[in-house]
Amino acid sequence: MAAPAPALDPGNDPSFAELLAQRPHLSRHAHDGLVMEDVPLARIAEVVGSPTWVYSAGTLRRRARALRTALADAGLTATVHFATKANDNLAVLALLGHEGLGADVVSEGELRGARAAGIPASAIVFSGVGKSEREIRLALAEGIMQINAESIEEIAMISEIAAGMGRTAPVAIRVNPDVDAKTHAKITTGLSENKFGVAYDDALALYARMAALPGIRPIGIATHIGSQITVGMGAYRAAYARLAELVRAIRAQGLPIERIDCGGGLGIAYRDEIAPAPAALAGAIKAELGALGLPVMLEPGRWIAGPAGVLLSRVILQKQGAARRFVVLDAAMNDLLRPAMYDPWHGILPVAPAALVAPTAPADVVGPVCESSDCFARDRALPDLPPGALVALLDAGAYGATMSSTYNARPLAAEVLVDGARFAVVRDRQSYEALHTGQRLPDWLTG
Ligand SMILES: *Cc1c(COP(=O)(O)O)cnc(C)c1O
Repeated sequence: MAAPAPALDPGNDPSFAELLAQRPHLSRHAHDGLVMEDVPLARIAEVVGSPTWVYSAGTLRRRARALRTALADAGLTATVHFATKANDNLAVLALLGHEGLGADVVSEGELRGARAAGIPASAIVFSGVGKSEREIRLALAEGIMQINAESIEEIAMISEIAAGMGRTAPVAIRVNPDVDAKTHAKITTGLSENKFGVAYDDALALYARMAALPGIRPIGIATHIGSQITVGMGAYRAAYARLAELVRAIRAQGLPIERIDCGGGLGIAYRDEIAPAPAALAGAIKAELGALGLPVMLEPGRWIAGPAGVLLSRVILQKQGAARRFVVLDAAMNDLLRPAMYDPWHGILPVAPAALVAPTAPADVVGPVCESSDCFARDRALPDLPPGALVALLDAGAYGATMSSTYNARPLAAEVLVDGARFAVVRDRQSYEALHTGQRLPDWLTG
């Protein structure tokens, strides 16, 4: 288990200017305040209300291209499959599809979303530790590129379903390489104690058994060692070295193998982490797997979408507590769950032009939900933020909207896509009527 994160020294927090310098899609204008691409965030709040997720199309495109370019520059034959659990907005998926990305999905809902966004099934990987019979059937009927299986029980089930449909299922085995990605305990997945994948030592025998099943076309092997990996390429290289060893053993047995799925997990700099560059990951893949001459796949989520989004929120009020100032926002943990789950750090920028250069004092930034964990930041240097002031919570484009709920009967926030000087609402704010749609009273309560 990873130790709890040490308390961060607020004195080392990046300044507003430093946060802006790292995020080229955001800038400060003397008149308009905080601007995403060419759209003032204040204008979006005025038109769409708050809280609202706002995504930068230019950033999504730039990051998708950066990954593909890095892989190509390393001389790899590679495809990139966006992990839609990071951001499943159809407009975001369609934009990434136009950039040539496929999708990595973990449920029927995500598969349907990716297809609805125009991503062909032949570019979609189905991952996840428990796929239902219905999900497998749909994936096969759609003509899925690959199913990443995580157990012999699942492989047997896929074979039976596929054979019954008169098909062969393209299956890769997800291998648990037992390496420590040194990320948060809740998002590490490649240790033998985690529920994911098949044990490395069992993988070869399993591959051979899979190859003998009637309904399966053995495609390859896959791994995914965790999320928000920022401590260099060591864990990746260790995992890929083990995959290379496994590929050689598979080939030595005369078994077919077509490609290697290298997973996702590339981290981003929320605060001052050293985020690995795509070229470093491509280099690690090339170094460990290049000699095998197989095409590779990547399944990034956070790295592509995280930095592209902000959660735009309005201050309800400032409250002077006995020991500290609280800034209470109209966004809460039901919108952005990450702070309550992983104690992460998210940059917070005021939107008004004067507030971006005003003197600051420490404040806790919280939401109105009735939980003490509904806290976005502690001891954060912020200016006076009177009721109605706008703030942007940074790097909320991944695991933001997708993890939100209606806890405390709070409607789901709207989503907006900014593209140059244009913006569009890409998901309506949920209405209060819709909050209770589908609920009904049993007749014995209505009499
Ligand atoms: C979540 C997940 C990803 C994406 O992880 P990121 O850290 O967002 O890159 C990729 N592959 C699988 C199997 C996953 O479960």
